Amino acid sequence: MVFVGIFGVKSSEEKLRDVDFECTGCLSDKMELFAFRKVFEFFFLPVLTLRKSHVIACSSCKSSYKLKEDKMEEILLKGKVKYEDVEKIVKEY
Ligand SMILES: [Zn+2]
Repeated sequence: MVFVGIFGVKSSEEKLRDVDFECTGCLSDKMELFAFRKVFEFFFLPVLTLRKSHVIACSSCKSSYKLKEDKMEEILLKGKVKYEDVEKIVKEY
């Protein structure tokens, strides 16, 4: 019996919306909000979300920032990100 391909971990990313945040790299304020997920799959069906994170990326210079998960509800509602909502800088140009 072959078990390869029955279990698997799949990564996905999804663009949620545009948000306002002043980029520390290029001072542009056009950012895009993405949700990243790692999902454990069994027979190609997602059974468990292993990890979920939200990242904003600057449309001009591609700097990206990881956001605090407990702030996400407010951010999704208002479409605004403040400096204290950023957990860490992923990449700054
Ligand atoms: Zn930028």
